[in-house]
Amino acid sequence: MAELKINEVFYSIQGETSWVGYPTVFIRTSGCNLRCRYCDTTYAFYQGEVRSVDSLITEVQSHPGKHVCLTGGEPLLQAASHELMKRLCDLGYNVSLETSGSLDCTKVDPRVKKIIDIKTPDSGAADSFHLSNLPSNPEFSVVNTEFKFVICSENDFFWAQNFAEKNQLFEQTEVLFSPAHRRIDAKWLATKILASKCPARLQTQLHKFIWSAHTRGV
Ligand code: SF4
Repeated sequence: MAELKINEVFYSIQGETSWVGYPTVFIRTSGCNLRCRYCDTTYAFYQGEVRSVDSLITEVQSHPGKHVCLTGGEPLLQAASHELMKRLCDLGYNVSLETSGSLDCTKVDPRVKKIIDIKTPDSGAADSFHLSNLPSNPEFSVVNTEFKFVICSENDFFWAQNFAEKNQLFEQTEVLFSPAHRRIDAKWLATKILASKCPARLQTQLHKFIWSAHTRGV
């Protein structure tokens, strides 16, 4: 029986990505291999309980709506994440995966929308990106992929722009720039994007505006 260590399951509004605003069931896995300076889910590093894929699907089905987001922690640390995503897709759910980018994503079910972080220098996890997750890898599918940079500083902004240009991400996928909470604000980042003519898509964390930055389970 396939099992995962799960930190929490909750029903809320998707606050990020191109699916922002959709009512969504979030499944947060326990454990992460990184320690980003701005991490707002440190409680997911260790806390959690082992759940079967069957019980998670039953819980998802108890909520209305057709969007499910697998997040963490880092979901791809647990092999059963793949079975969970596949079975949810088979049931007709719109499934998204939020991953740190530090693990190979080429085996993720192609029906899943992959939100792949690329960690900037000021994240404290620079150089963690797994290079197999670039469009230049023939085994990597850019379909259903969005790359996300959390920007902490001006240096991060230019680093992210340069990384995206060098790897032709702007031409092939959605590229999301998100301001790191309490480090830079959305207005600063918006101004920077406009002034530099960078085609990145500004992303804020809608759930933090609706509720608060520290409310869990939203
Ligand atoms: S990858 Fe995500 S969960 Fe892991 S430390 Fe970084 S921000 Fe936190």
